[in-house]
Amino acid sequence: MHELPVMKSILDIVLKQATIHNVRSVRAVQLEVGLLSDLEAQWMQRYFDYLSRGTLAQEAELKIQWNPIVFRCQECGKSFEAERKMLPDVACPACGRKHLSLVSGREYRIRNLEVE
Ligand SMILES: [Zn+2]
Repeated sequence: MHELPVMKSILDIVLKQATIHNVRSVRAVQLEVGLLSDLEAQWMQRYFDYLSRGTLAQEAELKIQWNPIVFRCQECGKSFEAERKMLPDVACPACGRKHLSLVSGREYRIRNLEVE
């Protein structure tokens, strides 16, 4: 499962921040996740619950904001959003070429922690 190592690294960061800031418990973790990351919210929460048992972040809720998939055309420089269902046949809306680089969509990061 793809989510397990990702949630492990997220939890490590959460616990490190919580310790630095003398937090009693983490109530929620706000995450930004790209729509191309192949992470599923249900599994992220399930693995997080499993991994965080007995830690400061036990029972913390994951609040996920999904980031759009954004490409930049390498021919004309236009940036544009793409739907997942348009892939892999996506072409630049300005020039019609398919020489694209991914700007965002695969990333995941912690935005904020809600703590006590
Ligand atoms: Zn273009």
